[in-house]
Amino acid sequence: MSAPPARHWRITLADNTVDEHEIAAVTEVLRSRWLSAGAQTAAFEREFADRIGTDDAVAVSSGTAALHLAMMALDLRPGDEVIMPALTFVAGAAVVALAGAIPVLADVRAPDDLTVDPVDVARLVTGQTRAVVAMHYAGYPADLAALRAVTDRHGAVLVEDAAHAPMVEHDGRMLGTHGDIGCFSFFATKNVTAGEGGMVVARDDAVRDRIRLARSHHLTTSTWDRLRSGDASYDVAGFGLNYRPTEVAAALGRVQLGKLPLDRERRRSLVATYREVLAAAPELVLPFAGRTGDSALHLMPVVLPAGTDRGAVREGLAAAGVQTSVHYPPVHHLSAYRSSPGAGRSALTVTNAVAARLLSLPLHSRMSDDDAALAAAALLRCLRQR
Ligand SMILES: *Cc1c(COP(=O)(O)O)cnc(C)c1O
Repeated sequence: MSAPPARHWRITLADNTVDEHEIAAVTEVLRSRWLSAGAQTAAFEREFADRIGTDDAVAVSSGTAALHLAMMALDLRPGDEVIMPALTFVAGAAVVALAGAIPVLADVRAPDDLTVDPVDVARLVTGQTRAVVAMHYAGYPADLAALRAVTDRHGAVLVEDAAHAPMVEHDGRMLGTHGDIGCFSFFATKNVTAGEGGMVVARDDAVRDRIRLARSHHLTTSTWDRLRSGDASYDVAGFGLNYRPTEVAAALGRVQLGKLPLDRERRRSLVATYREVLAAAPELVLPFAGRTGDSALHLMPVVLPAGTDRGAVREGLAAAGVQTSVHYPPVHHLSAYRSSPGAGRSALTVTNAVAARLLSLPLHSRMSDDDAALAAAALLRCLRQR
């Protein structure tokens, strides 16, 4: 693609709100010289738990680590199955495959609702189904009530991949707390960023405590504890990894969490502008435009008219300085998963119909409404030229 170098984008796909506040917080951590999980991490966990309405939360090094720890908590065995949308980030499938289990791919509901279809999920349940993963695409809630009915009926676990959806209220509680385990990401492009980072919440305290142990080799005491107590001994009663966040990331995340309400407001205005301008485009689908509830508005996806040359549209937008992306190439289109036993169970009719038509437009809170109007107008021009 003849995209201009990064600095020449007029409007980048994503950006963050990092400023002097984060710089001050991070500098303070560096001056303290305690850099791995400690007081900042504990404070980040407390503040996240307070805001999301849980007793506790476990900060980790990435959203992928959060999902991996969730799957480890299920004690998946070879042959076990975990159902998830085909239209998700590959991390969700990888953590299941790495456990020797089978990611079973379900369809999404419709071109204008890109969350997993509970009817297809119900159809895909077998005696081996251990869990269902609900991914809140672009920050819009998946149909949790319907998915919960399916998991309850079959004794399966409901995991929420809420990487797109920090602090979104739905049916009286936050996303991530409807299921048994909720996973969040603080990657550089997410609404709350720590550079890299993640968080896990769990309905059951015992599950959450096991996830906290597995985050740090299942050690009974941490380096932080040993520093404070002077006791050098520890035991290991399970298999774990090092998925701890750094104190630098935790300090960054704490400041970012406080900025989320303003970020949400800006995104709301941008999405309204996009929808207003793009309503003029015949056959262009604006996913979730009919939703009335809360959303993190993480992405601004559109589904191009059938038969559109997406590459040409992206070239046209790039020429106008507008960066775009695709969320996502469906998991079953990726080489590693193409012949996976869980890839062919569902016809994936909607996913396959929209896969080549999905396009994500720039959306971040450093954009002005004029930026959104400009990007939308550029898309309209590209569509008229086809
Ligand atoms: C970002 C993301 C992840 C992975 O999070 P990382 O922090 O990048 O590891 C997982 N699932 C979804 C839906 C994501 O958007």
